[in-house]
Amino acid sequence: MDNQERFRDSIGTLDEEGKRKWVYPKKPSGVFYEYRKYVSYALLIFLFTAPFIKINGNQFLLFNVLERKFNIFGFPFWPQDFYLFVIAMVIGVVFIALFTVAFGRIFCGWICPQTIFLEMVFRRIEYAIEGDRGKQIRLDKAPWTKDKILKKGTKWTIFAIISFLIANIFLAYLISSDELIKYITNGPTSHLGTFIPLLVFTAVFYFVFAWFREQVCIIACPYGRLQGVLLDQKSIVVAYDHKRGEREEGRQKFKKNQDRAAQGIGDCIACSQCVQVCPTGIDIRNGTQLECVNCTACIDACDSIMESVNLPKGLIRYASEENIEKKSKFEFTPRLKGYTAVLTILTGLLIGLLLIRSDIEAKVLRLPGQTYEMKDNGNISNVFTYKLLNKTNVEMDSIHFKLNSFNGEIKMVKKEYFSIEKGGIAKGTFFIETDPAALKDDKNKIEIEVYSKDRLIDRTTTNFMGPRTFR
Ligand code: SF4
Ligand code: SF4
Repeated sequence: MDNQERFRDSIGTLDEEGKRKWVYPKKPSGVFYEYRKYVSYALLIFLFTAPFIKINGNQFLLFNVLERKFNIFGFPFWPQDFYLFVIAMVIGVVFIALFTVAFGRIFCGWICPQTIFLEMVFRRIEYAIEGDRGKQIRLDKAPWTKDKILKKGTKWTIFAIISFLIANIFLAYLISSDELIKYITNGPTSHLGTFIPLLVFTAVFYFVFAWFREQVCIIACPYGRLQGVLLDQKSIVVAYDHKRGEREEGRQKFKKNQDRAAQGIGDCIACSQCVQVCPTGIDIRNGTQLECVNCTACIDACDSIMESVNLPKGLIRYASEENIEKKSKFEFTPRLKGYTAVLTILTGLLIGLLLIRSDIEAKVLRLPGQTYEMKDNGNISNVFTYKLLNKTNVEMDSIHFKLNSFNGEIKMVKKEYFSIEKGGIAKGTFFIETDPAALKDDKNKIEIEVYSKDRLIDRTTTNFMGPRTFR
């Protein structure tokens, strides 16, 4: 194997004996880091507030797997809506694939909760308590003095508190924020069955953010492992411009008043700042690697070096392999067009299904084994059963049925107007009576409308049976 490709034989966080190499990334700073901070703060606010936002009484986001209740953007989804959930998931997967083909792992660097919590919450606390890279290395090597115990103890305690907080928020997404607040008010001992899993989640988050860290992205994350399949020469990734960085004479240390381009010396001054800031412990100058989460820290580090030595910025930048090789621009490839077409169709389908989805799911069926009955007044009667599911989180009252474009009368067995509690089901029986003259056939398709007060909430169809002589 080519010597230059040797780095691909092992991951950047393992030493030659296969032991974990602890990564001490230098604290990043620069334009991208600033933007990432704003995006992260916005996403963190969203993550922590979404379970407490309600739309029409529905939690904005809820994933109650045990009770099979799901709310997405305030829309409640029931097991009956499972097909919508599947379509939403398919759209999500296609979207991520499409996005990755075009823009590489931008999601990992800017949006992924693992990166946001690790880089923008836990790591920043670590920098505040233990200092930057050099200080952290020295502290870890130092004996257990009072100062070290204090620093490590403070850091681990804060990490544990934040992990507990994240576990609580996680729980609010699973069991609803109302339940969570109720559990907190009642005290943990009243709900040990929930409190113990909460502590387990806390321990998992603590383990991930205090110790496992970048290994999640490198070893555990399936999306990270898919990069090799999804990325191509045209995908935009955080890339080192090796053409400009190396030229004919390769990398050399910076010397004042030297015309590097004229002498064929690359613009990379071999300062290794890009390596020192990397939270996954790699050298981006080796090319795109599975460990790279596109966090942009190396772009900021290199830009600041380029600025200080008066060379153009962008030696490390967002670019595709093809951009760098041919100095060409981003292109909308046929593969990308295909993904976009599929994504547009699926999104349209989902929006359409959401729009036609009603608050009530109504089913009206003729009573099995029954055909029709001739009444004394000459009318014909059929008996039907109904089942209504209230998919909303509010009680629906004054529910009643109307016939649409059919000359007949609905006679309820019980109440004409009734209500259905939130998430509840109403079942019952009614008769429809009509003058035989209204029938066109022995089997007549009829439409029944369901109203809550004056509001039409669903429509359903069924058949009205009559004697064959009416053909
Ligand atoms: S930061 Fe830039 S100049 Fe320094 S080693 Fe990395 S690529 Fe070269
Ligand atoms: S190589 Fe650069 S973008 Fe990739 S993880 Fe390291 S610092 Fe972040």
